Amino acid sequence: MSRYDAIVVGSGPNGLAAAIVIAQTGRKVVVFEAEPDIGGGVRSAELTLPGFVHDICSAVHPFAVASPFFRTLPLASYGLEWVAPPAMVGHPFDDGSCTLVYRSVEQTAAELDGDRRGYIDLIGTLVDAWPLIDTSVLAPLRWPSHPIALSRFGLQAMRSAERVARGAFAGARARATFAGIAAHGLLPLDCRPSAAFGLVLNVMAHTAGWVMPRGGAQQLTNALAAHLKSLGGEIVTGTPVRSVDDLPPARSILCDLSPKPLLRIAGHRFPLWYRRKLERYRYGMASFKVDWALDAPIPWRAEGCARAGTVHLGGTIEELARSERDAWEGRIADRPFVLLAQPSRFDDSRAPNGRHTAWAYCHLPHGSDADMLSRIEQQIERFAPGFTERVLARSVRRPADFERHNANLVGGDIGAGVTDLWQLFTRPTWRAYSTPVRGLYICSASTPPGVGVHGMCGYFAAQRALSDVLRD
Ligand SMILES: Cc1cc2nc3c(=O)[nH]c(=O)nc-3n(C[C@H](O)[C@H](O)[C@H](O)COP(=O)(O)OP(=O)(O)OC[C@H]3O[C@@H](n4cnc5c(N)ncnc54)[C@H](O)[C@@H]3O)c2cc1C
Repeated sequence: MSRYDAIVVGSGPNGLAAAIVIAQTGRKVVVFEAEPDIGGGVRSAELTLPGFVHDICSAVHPFAVASPFFRTLPLASYGLEWVAPPAMVGHPFDDGSCTLVYRSVEQTAAELDGDRRGYIDLIGTLVDAWPLIDTSVLAPLRWPSHPIALSRFGLQAMRSAERVARGAFAGARARATFAGIAAHGLLPLDCRPSAAFGLVLNVMAHTAGWVMPRGGAQQLTNALAAHLKSLGGEIVTGTPVRSVDDLPPARSILCDLSPKPLLRIAGHRFPLWYRRKLERYRYGMASFKVDWALDAPIPWRAEGCARAGTVHLGGTIEELARSERDAWEGRIADRPFVLLAQPSRFDDSRAPNGRHTAWAYCHLPHGSDADMLSRIEQQIERFAPGFTERVLARSVRRPADFERHNANLVGGDIGAGVTDLWQLFTRPTWRAYSTPVRGLYICSASTPPGVGVHGMCGYFAAQRALSDVLRD
């Protein structure tokens, strides 16, 4: 007799999602987590000073709200509350102006001067189509329920962000704004399908919103864990799984792992051809992250940026494209593109009264040990003179630190593997969630639909197990 129907290795959002799907059917499931805390890429801690709550990895969660699976769960009843800033994204320029992406398409377009029509045609049209295609976009390749709407999206999404931006917009401001959103995808902006990230995230600004959990990202994890426990699921922390052979008996094992750590714990069970395929899986550029405790809000020169939850620092599309290409090709950008969030502006539980937090990262070459702190702070100073005078304390995470705390983030790649055209559809192999070992599945962001806090990789992996070894 198996003690468990399913064992999940890793408590990231995909691991918890997989465990919930299986527990929902009344089956017995346990999650083993290596770290003392649950959540993987969705955790918070007082990284700088007491009373300042920082997000260790993810901070901004449009994917979680948009997730076809998470939105079916009663997470609000476990205390999860979303905080929506007045503007989702701010993009400042050297002349002291900025663009803002609001929840409303019209309001956003109205500030784009000559590109108002272009924005409505590109983004507004996709916003209208989103309810028809969201479950196909956040899913593995399969026959869609609305093929025409999806193919309209796909034709644009499969292009490079630079091409889409230059084709849709005449002005530098709209082009730069779209490029900043697309650069979340960890691909050079002239590389296909970097437009996919730009389009999906831009649409989500108008549908789900670029929101943050009140109290920090950990609150999302805590709500998922509380729901899992209410369904009878167990979670065991501080227990790194060193080999699948050490696990208690179970009918299925779902690994919230990217290929490299998966090979470490299960490689000996795989046939050589599959091991080779996993070994060939490509990881991408790294990230260098800084969290700050501040004695006042960030003094943006463009005052509109004070209303944005996320601010993109890098100026023009040309500068952004150069920065991303540098990181991709192994060079350190002098002026790296910086993605910044300022949660305490909109959530006073994040810092002591009158004080603030900021979260930012930039991309750099895979595995690099370059120190990007001063370059990141110079980029912030460029658009917010006086920023560094407000710093009370800082906490830095280099690529090696990411990997030390989470084996999935190989070389500091926070995307769990490159999402170029090939690996978008065959993550981590054409088998996606299944492996050649019966009952052993992969449920991490290294499977479709990939990076982001949506839990859909876990959802689909668990469905695969349920229709396979857990069928009866
Ligand atoms: C710095 C950073 C910023 C990000 N920002 C955002 C953002 O703002 N919005 C967004 O949507 N996404 C963001 N992401 C991406 C997002 O966090 C990930 O895509 C997501 O967490 C992937 O979830 P997962 O469940 O696949 O794996 P993970 O979150 O990586 O979780 C895997 C878990 O497995 C555990 N584990 C690993 N090996 C073992 C083992 N041998 N035994 C037991 N446990 C093990 C790890 O400790 C970890 O808890 C960010 C990521 C990082 C790192």
